[in-house]
Amino acid sequence: MSQLDNCPECGQIYIKNAFRDVCENCYKQEENHYKNVYKYIRQKQNRTATMDQVVEGTGVSEALIVKFIRKGRIQLAQFPHLGYPCDRCGTLIREDKLCGACKKDIHSQLTSIEREEERKRELEKQGKTYHSINNRIK
Ligand SMILES: [Zn+2]
Ligand SMILES: [Zn+2]
Repeated sequence: MSQLDNCPECGQIYIKNAFRDVCENCYKQEENHYKNVYKYIRQKQNRTATMDQVVEGTGVSEALIVKFIRKGRIQLAQFPHLGYPCDRCGTLIREDKLCGACKKDIHSQLTSIEREEERKRELEKQGKTYHSINNRIK
């Protein structure tokens, strides 16, 4: 399905479809950037480049490089130091949507919510006792 939309890059009206999320001009520019990035990281000495080095070496923004990675146009398996930001904290990661620390953090938050709920249930069970004490004080 295609529809008219404003290009998120330059604001021009363009026809949006499943394959194109920017206008023709910006798409061409992105393709050029992609070629530059790809040419750069394909060189043997750049295989181990970090994101910062690629940005510096190609002049392409990190956001765009991340987009290429997310679209699968840059295969992380071949480039040990590249990655994309964790959805939660922005640390560069290479798999899933969250980094290890955030996963741990969310997990421990979940466990503490569970514990909290258990405690509430416990309290509810004892609720009657509490109420009778409160009533007596009144
Ligand atoms: Zn555009
Ligand atoms: Zn994170």
